[in-house]
Formats: sequence, structure tokens, C-alpha cells
Amino acid sequence: VARRLRDVGEHGWIARLLGTVPRGPRVVVGPGDDAAAIRPPRGALLLTTDTLVEGSHFQAGWEPPARLGRRAFRINLSDVAAMGGRPLAALVAIEAPPDLPVAILDGLMRGVIADARTHGVDVVGGNLAAAPRLAVTLTLVGVASRRPVTRTGARPGDDVWVTGTVGGGGAAVRALLAGHRTRRPPVPVRLEASRLLAPVAHAMIDVSDGLMQDLGHICRASGVAAAVDAGRVPVAAACRRALGVEAVPFAVTAGEDYELLLTASPRQRARLERIAPRLGCALSRIGRIEAGRPAVRLLDAGGRVLPLRRAGFDHFRRR
Ligand SMILES: [Mg+2]
Repeated sequence: VARRLRDVGEHGWIARLLGTVPRGPRVVVGPGDDAAAIRPPRGALLLTTDTLVEGSHFQAGWEPPARLGRRAFRINLSDVAAMGGRPLAALVAIEAPPDLPVAILDGLMRGVIADARTHGVDVVGGNLAAAPRLAVTLTLVGVASRRPVTRTGARPGDDVWVTGTVGGGGAAVRALLAGHRTRRPPVPVRLEASRLLAPVAHAMIDVSDGLMQDLGHICRASGVAAAVDAGRVPVAAACRRALGVEAVPFAVTAGEDYELLLTASPRQRARLERIAPRLGCALSRIGRIEAGRPAVRLLDAGGRVLPLRRAGFDHFRRR
């Protein structure tokens, strides 16, 4: 018989977990006290948090619990990378129904802890609360040793670059929602790419809610416009196979890619092409920043504007 959370209890489960979390020399007080304490690093602290809610970000059975834990960790890692930083410490807050099998929570934390170890991150605390559905909120503390790269620095004339491919995560979610058996690709880790790209980037963001929408955030923050060449967008192979001629419009609005989107001076092209082989992923120049009202246009090979049904994902609006 599967042991449920109500059989083990909040404190029982936490006590068992505490022995397994990574704890490095910067931790002064680890998990289990009223608050954690870590030695502050040199540079600016980065603080970010993100939640995965059952029924909203995932459905039961979409992926093994460890992959879900890894996803919760990496979507936050992606935000730290987008600021040009590196991660230091994490807090994990879980909501779970009392009848949830303990094995699911164990698996979830195994995923978080495995990734935390890989990236030298201390898991310093968290919370467990009873709730009608499973949700995991991960808070990540990072550090930017140079000035953090924000969304505000894009300038007219800049090139727009993106790492990796887009549309793969969105295509998998589309297939899952249609009842097909497939897996979402893991959230990519772009820390090394971030380290190399941040010194060159005028503005940077991670693509979580759709490339057009996230580039729109850069445009609004920077007070500029942008044009994206549809033919230059690196669309994931799985997305091309599933969507055919609709692959590009889908890929630029689908979200779940967690790639880095940045702008840089055209004078940096040679430098960017030189560092590209060391990023651990592709780097594509997909468009440019222009003067004008904040707006993002998708252009075909002839420079005509391609119509899009939506800009990207929004939690509070219908798809
Ligand atoms: Mg982000």
C-alpha cells in the first residue's frame, strides 16, 4: 500500500528530507531552524521565485515527480541566468493534498536536490502545507558579480539573438493536452551561455511565455520596437514535424522554451560568432531593435508582417 502524506505527517516527512539536502560552506544555518542564514556573496544578490501548480502548469502523470522537481528548479535557474548571474541557494515551498503518496514528494525533492548539487546550489529551507492540489514554489538566490543584465538596455540598431531552439516545449504541451503520450523536453540550463553572453548583452530575458511576448517585454522596458525575421527563428525539430507550415508562428508564441533572448550591438557580431561554439547550445541572430513605439513584428522573407493570433502565454487570459 502506498504511504500517504497523512500517514507520515509534515514533520516526519521534513525530518527525513533534511539529511539529504546539499549544504556548502556558505551556509551558516541550514534548513530546520526558523530561517536559514548564508554568508552574503560579493556583488548584487539576485532573488527570484516561480511556482508550478497542478492543473495549471502540469497535469498528474505528465512526467515523473523527479522531472517535475527538476523543472521547478530550472525555471528559476533560467531567471538567474537571464540576469547574468549564478545560483547560490534555494528554498522550496510545497503544497500537497494529505492523500498524496509520499513517493511523489520524495521524487519531486530528489529532482530538486540532484539539480541543486549539479549546479552547486545549497537547499537551505522550505515549507510544506496542506492544500487541495499539488504545487511547488521554488525561490532561488543568486549573485551577479557584474551589473545585472536587465530588460531595459536595448537600443535601436541592436541585433536580437536567441540561444537554442524554440517551440519544442510548446509542441509537447500541445500534444499532451490533445491526449498524446509524449514528454516535455527538460528545461535547458543556460548558465554557461549566460556567463559568456552577459558581458556583450545590452538587454536579456529568458523566453518563458513566448518569444514575441518576451521580446515585447524588452521593448516596453527599453522604449524601443523590434522586428523578427521568421526565416531566422530556430524552431525545434519536434515543433516543425508537428506543426508544419504553422511551426514558426506557433514556436514564437508558445512559451516553455527557457532560452536566453538578448540584444547586442551589431559591432559585437564577430565576437558573438567566436564565442558561440562554447555556449553549449546554438546561437541565432533573429532580428533587430528599431526606434519606435514598443511593438514586435514578425516578418516573412519579403519583409511583410505575418499576422499572429496571440503574442504568448498569459495565465489570466484564455488561450
Ligand atoms: Mg524570466
